[in-house]
Amino acid sequence: MSGGGALRNFSGVALGDRPGSFDIELRGEKIASITPSAGDAPAEWLVLPAFVNFHTHANRSFAAPSRRPVSLADAVAASKFERAAASVDDVCARAGRLLQRAVAHGTALIRTHTDVDAATGMRDIEGVLGAAAGVADAIDVEIVAFANAAADPARVETRELLAEALRKGATLLGAVPAMYERPLASAEALLDLAADLGVQVDVHLDEHLDAAAIVLEQVVDASMERGLEGRVAISHGCVLSVLQDAAVARILDKMAAARIKLVVQPALNLYLQDRGDRSPRRRGLAPVQEALRAGVEVRFGSDNVRDWFFPWGDADPLDEAYVGALAAHIDAPEPLLAAVCGGRSGLRAGERADLVLIPARSFDDALARRPGGRLLVRRGRLVPPRPR
Ligand SMILES: [Zn+2]
Repeated sequence: MSGGGALRNFSGVALGDRPGSFDIELRGEKIASITPSAGDAPAEWLVLPAFVNFHTHANRSFAAPSRRPVSLADAVAASKFERAAASVDDVCARAGRLLQRAVAHGTALIRTHTDVDAATGMRDIEGVLGAAAGVADAIDVEIVAFANAAADPARVETRELLAEALRKGATLLGAVPAMYERPLASAEALLDLAADLGVQVDVHLDEHLDAAAIVLEQVVDASMERGLEGRVAISHGCVLSVLQDAAVARILDKMAAARIKLVVQPALNLYLQDRGDRSPRRRGLAPVQEALRAGVEVRFGSDNVRDWFFPWGDADPLDEAYVGALAAHIDAPEPLLAAVCGGRSGLRAGERADLVLIPARSFDDALARRPGGRLLVRRGRLVPPRPR
């Protein structure tokens, strides 16, 4: 393997979506060719499309909460109280730590939902923007202006805060409708704002298992009514896991028609859903297999990392692929790769050379061990390794 910044080729490497070993030639910023390797030595490195982590909360990560949550609502309450004391510098340090971890894992793009509310204003947005600037050579950071549980988008003050966050550098709008008094009206207010301002939406929707409280189908309809096809992502959708098959199929067909992405957080959904004083009976993940069959694009996100909502995690897309494979019984490598590589299930000649090299002999080997020592390649150049 050539080194020192610009890379030329990799010899005898494994790929995620096909058996055998291959030689990869790079030319400038692109993959020039991928050919079967002449040698028969087992591959030492696995080369995948660089990871895309589609759902995080960098501003909350490593917040060292005083205790573990007993439910999602309990975590929301704890975060509201403890977040209020954090300065821009605190947020910048936390987010920077998460972004460095993401680069070490081989992540080229990360989407982070960043709290916006009346108590903290633009503090979290400014902290995350500062952290993103520090790693701009290595990773693209997509900031969702996230109206949290204390910031209902049905209120004009919240919409003004969201618009201000966009002016500062956020590029999407988000919210958590189940936490507001009238979830559907709040979701529609968010969609109206997105349509007015010409931005995309990623909304925390139906992160619960109460079939009577579902608004997902109406939000899909409302997205289409506003001409937002291809511009909306729905994060969680846990309630889909408790609906009858016919209802699931109907809603997923609509999501596919509206080109709405489904963003699943395998570890977080397993941790927070069906939590109580007995063992969980329900897994809490939206039905990934059915979504894929319906033609819905599915992405995995790592969600919270060591904060009020989740005591563990490391924002490693390989962890999410592993947990997602286990929890949703996804056996084929292609959908798992697409879920953590921004829709790319393999490498193709002509594509931009955004790659992750993993010291593993196959994708299954990588899933089994989730090894460190990875290398991130952006536009054909090696990103200086970060500490593990
Ligand atoms: Zn989230």
